[in-house]
Amino acid sequence: MRKQIAAANWKMNLSLAQAETLLNEIVASAHTLGADQEAVFAVPAIYIPLALAKLANKPNVYVAAQNCHQKESGAYTGEVSASMLQSIGVKHIIVGHSERREYFAESDALLAEKVNAILAIGSTPIFCCGEPLSIREADTQNAFVEAQLKNSLFHLSADAIVKVVIAYEPIWAIGTGKTASSAQAQEIHAYIRSCFTAKYGEAVANQISILYGGSVKASNAKEIFSQPDVDGGLVGGASLVATEFTAIINALS
Ligand code: PEP
Repeated sequence: MRKQIAAANWKMNLSLAQAETLLNEIVASAHTLGADQEAVFAVPAIYIPLALAKLANKPNVYVAAQNCHQKESGAYTGEVSASMLQSIGVKHIIVGHSERREYFAESDALLAEKVNAILAIGSTPIFCCGEPLSIREADTQNAFVEAQLKNSLFHLSADAIVKVVIAYEPIWAIGTGKTASSAQAQEIHAYIRSCFTAKYGEAVANQISILYGGSVKASNAKEIFSQPDVDGGLVGGASLVATEFTAIINALS
């Protein structure tokens, strides 16, 4: 059975004191996670050791990084590698968030290298894809997202692809308060799964978790997560409020 995941993306938010308060609230919260469910916290890199310490011993709860460099080590000032993250206990890494694609010019080819680096050491990439508003308005989102998947992931073997978590995040819904309707989310998630089916076969496609991201909050999470091809969410703004994110974790069906 594929995993259901509630993933928090704190982005570049919170002071140390605020991060500590939020983590304390999350630790004290009454969330429940089943055997096939996970909560993942992608905190700013500098707070990873704090989050690891606070969330240690919480079953099925993981700390993630928001990015990594594609090389293992070397003269890349300011960068952090997947293996460095793994060495401190971080095994989930977000790759290709639309903000990194846009503000840091991350290309599909670069993201393929990052995915390779993460999988090579046995960690888990959370690979983001999703279309801008102009593409949605032209109703060409399926082809757009399919190209992102092909260019960054389809070189992988079946054994490798099942280790990747997909986060479909329509850019027009990120941080805007606009959410894809549950029908829109289901439609494109089913399309994404059909792309994996065409490439790897149904048994493999059915093992891949596909998260939805874009203004998920406590009030809409249950409805979105109830769709058959939606396996949880990647959550920005609402993950900064403990009660909101706890409700989102508890909305995993
Ligand atoms: C995100 O940053 O991945 C995201 C989905 O943000 P928000 O939930 O704020 O739209």
